Amino acid sequence: MPLFGPPNISAMQSKRDAQGLIKALTYKDAAIRQAAAEALAPFKDPLAVDSLAVALADVNPGVRKASVAALAARGGFRVVEPLVNALQDHDPEVRAAAASAVYRRLMADPDQDARQATATALGRVRAADAVEPLIKAVMDSDEGVRVAAIKALQSIGDSQAVMPLIIVLAHEQVRQKSTGRSSLAVERAASTALDTLAETGAIEPLQAALSHDDIAVREIAVRRLARIGSPIVSGSLAAALDDKDPVIRRAAARGLAEIGWQPPADESGARYWAALREWRRVPECGPAGVPLLISSFASVDALERADIIDALLRLGWEPLEPDALAAHYYASQSRWDKCREIGEPSVEALDAVLRNGPKWRDRVAAATTMAMLGQTRPYPFLRLDLVQRALAVLDAEGDVEAKRNVMQTLLADEHQFDARNKERVEYCKCGYPAARVRKDGLREPVADLLGFEKSSSNVITYYCPSCDTRRATVAG
Ligand SMILES: [Zn+2]
Repeated sequence: MPLFGPPNISAMQSKRDAQGLIKALTYKDAAIRQAAAEALAPFKDPLAVDSLAVALADVNPGVRKASVAALAARGGFRVVEPLVNALQDHDPEVRAAAASAVYRRLMADPDQDARQATATALGRVRAADAVEPLIKAVMDSDEGVRVAAIKALQSIGDSQAVMPLIIVLAHEQVRQKSTGRSSLAVERAASTALDTLAETGAIEPLQAALSHDDIAVREIAVRRLARIGSPIVSGSLAAALDDKDPVIRRAAARGLAEIGWQPPADESGARYWAALREWRRVPECGPAGVPLLISSFASVDALERADIIDALLRLGWEPLEPDALAAHYYASQSRWDKCREIGEPSVEALDAVLRNGPKWRDRVAAATTMAMLGQTRPYPFLRLDLVQRALAVLDAEGDVEAKRNVMQTLLADEHQFDARNKERVEYCKCGYPAARVRKDGLREPVADLLGFEKSSSNVITYYCPSCDTRRATVAG
């Protein structure tokens, strides 16, 4: 090698003289510096990384481009920062070389630490062009890379990321439901990123997600739109009131309630009240609510069923089919003959009256109708036959004294009290037998003739089945 000539790059290359090449990176002639950077590409000398990184600040763009290529060829964790910084080079060719290195090479680096560091660095410099590769990295096999990519997308703040983030979140939630396992870190990062993007106005992609096929995606979108709390989302939320899934409809309605939306007196208003299961408000929106009420009937509990029937009555609806809904309708109007005609589909409506009917006369009638349909229940009468007979005596023509005589005979025959043992019957104010009073003054309710309810704490309350008066409460 001549002592004072320019460094002989090809000789150094063939001698694998990394030190010489590194030194040549600072030679005064740019062509030599560039040739040295190019020659360093295949070298694994760790010192080369630092020197090539320094060369990225070279005044000559050709040197910088060659250094980018040399660093890109090495890959690994340590080249990430310098290459990501080169994305901001003022020379377009250097930037392009850096972008190609970072997006194609580093995002696919077999070393997960390199991939994660790349995603993090891209977020730090808010590399707007990195959105696409980062969206791919959101599905990376490594959790750390996924989280870093999500965070980077959050810092870049491009609304393109909204849909992929929703899908990631939905995916984790579905995984949690089906396997009990999900990545909490990924879930949290995606959720925070979505919140940030929504705050900065990424509403359109959320709105678009409302028509996604996957219900988990729609649910995330509707909840986030609802959280925005601005009238600009009311149109999309109102449209979501027609979603095929009740969870989405409810979330949409809650969001609308949150922003003070006034439900109009039409089908969308009816859908709003139905989504909130405020069945009694549905009639405010007119006859458009009828099909909604009818279709909701099968999927709600007994209390809500009563509300639906009430709403249907107010809308002037009448049953067309002899089904369970018709039975509830007739039972609510004490039309037991109709329930009997309907037969088996009435059993549920009749049972609801047995449990919760506010009038005991209705409970007796419902129990009687059920018995006619071949159905009996161990509540709310111990002896329905006796209740029926006693009520018949009470309701018959005749004066009080005569009725009491008949009643006492009936009770004595049925061993409900013992006249020979100087017991007597105590009557309710309506004239129905309520208690037997023993010779020593001890009173006990004639349980067989009364209606009863058992509380969860096993306390039994007895009622007069004729006038609803509470007659006695005893520990069960
Ligand atoms: Zn009474």
